[in-house]
Amino acid sequence: MSASFALNDAADTAAAAQTAPADDAVDTRVLIMLDDAAPQPGAVASDRPLTDRLRFADITEPQVSVLDLGVTRGDGIFETLDAVDGYAQALEPHLARLVNSARLLDLPHPDLDLFREAITQAIAASTSPRLSVKLVLTRGVEGGTVSTGWVFAEPVPDFDEARRNGISVVTLDRGYRHDAPQTSPWLLQGAKTLSYAVNKAVYREAARRGADDVIFISSDGFVLEGPTSNVVLQFGTHLVTPSTDQGILRGTAQGAFFEYAEANGLTTEYRQVTPDELAVADSVWLSSSVRQIVPVREIDGAARTFDAKLNSAALEYLLARHR
Ligand code: PLP
Repeated sequence: MSASFALNDAADTAAAAQTAPADDAVDTRVLIMLDDAAPQPGAVASDRPLTDRLRFADITEPQVSVLDLGVTRGDGIFETLDAVDGYAQALEPHLARLVNSARLLDLPHPDLDLFREAITQAIAASTSPRLSVKLVLTRGVEGGTVSTGWVFAEPVPDFDEARRNGISVVTLDRGYRHDAPQTSPWLLQGAKTLSYAVNKAVYREAARRGADDVIFISSDGFVLEGPTSNVVLQFGTHLVTPSTDQGILRGTAQGAFFEYAEANGLTTEYRQVTPDELAVADSVWLSSSVRQIVPVREIDGAARTFDAKLNSAALEYLLARHR
């Protein structure tokens, strides 16, 4: 059997299924391939136990077909979550967002129980206490009806310096109006798709401009999000983030940051934000699941300060959360 074609062949997948890797194969990186990760609507529900629909796989071997639309077209969706001490952070918000992305791309509904089981097993199989766990779902092999899915866990990089001292950011035009999701839903703004070539290109543009990261501005002048993060502004005891009806992702780390803020006497708000507010806010942060929050110390070449006390207290909370 060719490993690259194993994924969409239920019989082969079942034959290759293992419940857990051998002890000597336990690594800090874990890949689990899913069998029929998003069944077609109306398909008879599989009566096979979830554990028989998971296959621990070798990350150094090909697992996905070159005909897979996720590979050839970036036609698929993903989520990345942080896991600490065996707990997947914001698991249900991440799964809800996966479902929303599937809906926006007209993909079948992901089998969430299968993803939950794979996440649990991936975390349990890794020796690392802190993991980035990626969930992927593609439209599958061109012409077929079976979606491709996997869960991949790996240790997180060290973000200590950026978290403590902050990062430099440039603002870039995203090229879409803030209301693109309403006027042009086919642009898939607000879906977390595998087509991240643009998001990668903006990081190269940021590097050319001598910056670490980017804040997107809509073509009609509203602050949106980063290429892989949300934007949070502080005005005294009030935190603000751009409202999510503007084609941006509902951030799980931003949500947890707001939870922390509200539990500690701060107020929070989702609304439209203008670029000049970035210059006058008491602090600006970028929030995302694995990096959590990083303060912005420079925007478009202008130095800015941040509330170091709130930064470290919120970060401590975010890093330690077990849900
Ligand atoms: N916006 C975009 C475009 C992203 O890719 C991400 C995460 O990768 C976020 C926002 C932040 O979302 P979360 O906090 O759930 O990681």
